[in-house]
Amino acid sequence: MQNINLSKRLKKVASYIPRNSKIADIGSDHAYLPCYALQNGLINEAIAGEVNEGPYLSAVHTVEECQLSTLVQCRLGNGLSVISKGEVDCIIIAGMGGELIKQILENGKSQLSTKERLILQPNVASDRVRTWLDTNDWSIIDESILEEDQHIYEIIVAEKSKEIHQNLSDIERLMGPYLIKEKNDVFIKKWAHEADKMRKIIESLKETTQTENILNKIELFCERENQIRRQLK
Ligand code: SAM
Repeated sequence: MQNINLSKRLKKVASYIPRNSKIADIGSDHAYLPCYALQNGLINEAIAGEVNEGPYLSAVHTVEECQLSTLVQCRLGNGLSVISKGEVDCIIIAGMGGELIKQILENGKSQLSTKERLILQPNVASDRVRTWLDTNDWSIIDESILEEDQHIYEIIVAEKSKEIHQNLSDIERLMGPYLIKEKNDVFIKKWAHEADKMRKIIESLKETTQTENILNKIELFCERENQIRRQLK
């Protein structure tokens, strides 16, 4: 029987799963997360969703190797279409771009009830995920930022709360409302790097012909750079 060990990133994702729940891991690839969660007694049942046949077959293989076929259902399908409304307590979408996660949530709105916890781990563009959550009345209840193998990852945990709207500011959507408050070393590293990158873009824009469009861009980037640097103090 195969024993699953997870990366630091996926272990952190798993730490947010409500105990004794039924989860759907959308874009599960090898189904490592649901198998790990079952082997470690975190959950009761799982659905591993995959849109692509290769990863779907890998998921089936892992589940068989782990002898978990009665507890993990592998389903081939796009995004949230593999689950029905109210079928699970927790939906995990990890290891994709923020835009794709946003699209999966938007296209799967009718499969979402008000009871699930969403655990979302965008590799890039986490602001798109936060904007979607805020616009659709999901409240962010926790966040993490961590570094592994020279990559920085963000994890966003959301629930439908009684509060109608979280009303995140621009900078909270960009940097994360919890992450801004915590300001840990990884957060500082990520945003110092982003601000430096923005400065380089501004300097190279200054060297090109100063059309109105370029001047507007410079102004916009300067404003964003200042906003970010203010959070690093
Ligand atoms: N979730 C795992 C993780 O975090 O390590 C695997 C991430 S892997 C990089 C992304 C997976 O998402 C791929 O296996 C891909 O086939 C799947 N995927 C992409 N778009 C999807 C969609 N719309 N619905 C379901 N799965 C999708």
